[in-house]
Amino acid sequence: MVGKKPMEAEALLEQIFYYMSQLVNEKDFKKTLLLLTDMGRTLVNAERASFWYWDVKKKEYWTLVASDSEQLVVPEGTGIVGATIGNNETIVINEPYKDNRFNSKVDEETGFITKSILCMPVTNSAGEVIGAYQAINKLDEKGESNFDDRDVKRLTLAAAYSGKALESHLLYQTAHIDSLTGLRNRRGFYEYYNVEIVPVMEKNGASTIMCDIDFFKKVNDTYGHNAGDAVLQMVAGTLQEGIECGEAFRWGGEEFVLLLPGTNLAQAMSIAEELRQTIENKVCRFDEEDIRITMSFGVKELDGKCSVERHIEEADARLYEAKTSGRNRVIG
Ligand code: GH3
Ligand code: MG
Ligand code: MG
Repeated sequence: MVGKKPMEAEALLEQIFYYMSQLVNEKDFKKTLLLLTDMGRTLVNAERASFWYWDVKKKEYWTLVASDSEQLVVPEGTGIVGATIGNNETIVINEPYKDNRFNSKVDEETGFITKSILCMPVTNSAGEVIGAYQAINKLDEKGESNFDDRDVKRLTLAAAYSGKALESHLLYQTAHIDSLTGLRNRRGFYEYYNVEIVPVMEKNGASTIMCDIDFFKKVNDTYGHNAGDAVLQMVAGTLQEGIECGEAFRWGGEEFVLLLPGTNLAQAMSIAEELRQTIENKVCRFDEEDIRITMSFGVKELDGKCSVERHIEEADARLYEAKTSGRNRVIG
C-alpha cells in the first residue's frame, strides 16, 4: 500500500485540531476509542492502528478496529501488545519477521505483510499501564518506511489522550456499577431514570419495583458473610434475567430496584409475582450448604407528575407494607 508524504508541521497541527474538536463532542466511549485510533494512525502515517484495552479482570486485551466490527480479543501476555503492556515500554520493530517477539501466524493466515510496528503503552494518572497503542506499517510515497523517534513522539500525543479517555470511562464505571453484583448502583439508577424513563414515561408508561431480601441478616449469621454475598449475586442475576425490558439496580445492602419502561401497574405486578416465585424456588449452593431465601416486593406505576423521589418513597412504602404484613409477597 502506497501512502502519502509524511505530514509537515502545519498540516499535522490541522489534523490534531480536527481530531480534538471531534473528541470534545464525542460522548460514546467506543466511538472515542475509534477516533483516537484513527488519530494515531494519521499522526504517524501508518497503514493500520489499533488501541488495545487491558481488561485486567478477564486477563485479556481487546480492541475495536472499526465502528461496526466486533471486538478482537487476545489473551493477556501475548504478542507485541503483551510485551508492551507487560514491560511498560515502547517497542519499535522495523524488521518484524527477524524479531522473535513477533508472531507471524496471523500474517500467514491472512496474507497481510507486516513491515514495521510501533507499539506504545497507555497509562493512567497514577502511571499504571491500562492499554496500548499499536501502529503497523509506516507509509511513505514508496509504500514502505521505518518508524523513528519522531513517530514515537507523535504517537505519544494520541496515547496521552487515549489514557485520559479510557481512565475517565473506567472511573465512571466504578462510580456507577456495583462491584459485587455487576448491577448498576443508585447513581446508575438515576441516570437510567433520566435517560431511559423520563423521555418515554408520558407516552409508553413505566413502573418501578422495589424489593428486599427477607431476614437476610440471618443468612449472614447462619452461613457467613461470603455466603451472603453469593446470595446477593444470585438475586441480582435472577432479577436481571427475569425482566425482558428494563434494568435491575442494587439500591443498597440487600435491597434492589427495577425500572420497567413500557410497563403498567398490572404488568409490573405480574412480573414482581413471577420474580417472587422464582426466588422462593431457587437454591443458592455455597460451601456445601443449600441456602433458600424469599423476598418482599413493592410495586409502583410511574407518572410524569411525580418526582423520582416521590416514586421511590411510594414504592418503598409498599415494600414496607409487604414486610409488615408477613413478607414473601407483592404489594402494589
Ligand atoms: P427484613 O426481612 O426486615 O428485611 O430483615 P433483614 O435481616 O433482611 O434486614 P436487616 O436490615 O436487619 O439486615 C440486612 C443485612 O444485610 C445486614 C447487613 O449486614 C447485610 N448486608 C448488607 N449489605 C451486604 C453485603 O454486601 N454482603 C453481605 N453478605 N451482607 C450484607
Ligand atoms: Mg431485608
Ligand atoms: Mg433492607
